[in-house]
Amino acid sequence: MNTSSVIVTHGLTRRFGDITAVDGLDLTVRAGEVLGFLGHNGSGKTTTVRLLNGVLTATAGSARVLGLDPGVAGAELRRRTGVLTETPSLDERLTANENLTLFAQLYGVPEADIAGRVAELLETFQLADRAADRVSGFSKGMKQRLALARALLHKPELLFLDEPTSGLDPVSTRQVHTLIRELSRNGGHTVFLCTHNLEEAQRLCDRVAVLEHGRLMALGTPAELGRSLWHGARVEIEVAPQMMATALDVLQTFPDARDVVLAENQPVLTLALPGREHIPQVVERMVAANVPLYRLTPHEATLEDIYFALHGHEEVQS
Ligand code: ATP
Repeated sequence: MNTSSVIVTHGLTRRFGDITAVDGLDLTVRAGEVLGFLGHNGSGKTTTVRLLNGVLTATAGSARVLGLDPGVAGAELRRRTGVLTETPSLDERLTANENLTLFAQLYGVPEADIAGRVAELLETFQLADRAADRVSGFSKGMKQRLALARALLHKPELLFLDEPTSGLDPVSTRQVHTLIRELSRNGGHTVFLCTHNLEEAQRLCDRVAVLEHGRLMALGTPAELGRSLWHGARVEIEVAPQMMATALDVLQTFPDARDVVLAENQPVLTLALPGREHIPQVVERMVAANVPLYRLTPHEATLEDIYFALHGHEEVQS
């Protein structure tokens, strides 16, 4: 992956009256990556996207997007970025073909290239057979694919996607996921993906940024964030159900074990250790206490673990 930066912000801030929607954001997005931008409702994701596209001006701080200052060169920048908003507005009275043709003209795609580009995108997004149908008769998934095609008409280097699979069924969701991955892996596009769907972020994103009340709580790969949140090793242990209480006793009296948690409805315990070298001691203690150990698995933190830990946690940056 090319590691040059397509977005760099320093202290980027936007206030609306008393509300600080984006608060001193320091963010770097690398060329070709899919960056997941995560945060609760109202945490400042959409405002950030609007600042980065020059639709809104910053109250303080600075941003460089594709080498341009969005506050000064917004129009030029928007010719090089594609934006899929959460509720894309397509013209429902027009056909898929007409919608794309109209927007290609608005985006300034050369007249001679428009028909070919539209046909190519309709093909890619599996809408070629519906090209001449009015959008009013399209399903939500088809509209979302058409909106994604529209965002790509002018071959943007950088793509902002706001909740691209919101409200889609699993099949359409998978299609959109495949398209996003292809855009990044094969097409060389950089994707800035705002999502509430942590599984989606885990599946698609190279790195994630977590926002809370406009502030950046964490930035890194899920593995980096997991390591910075939980130093040492987390392990999952499965024992014979009738020995659960004994196992719990063993772990709670093991001075190096922290955060010993019993899973609901299954004989599984999770705990944190200072490092992997402590795992054999756990096994020895279990054996000494005659606890049949069925399984011991080092536990990789999921994005969901990280997200929830961060929201009850101090700032983490890697
Ligand atoms: P969601 O996940 O619900 O889409 P978000 O993370 O995109 O939320 P924003 O839409 O950026 O959040 O909103 C951040 C904060 O800024 C909210 O408190 C919102 O009410 C406020 N805000 C956003 N735009 C405006 C505006 N034009 N005028 C006043 N307040 C605004």
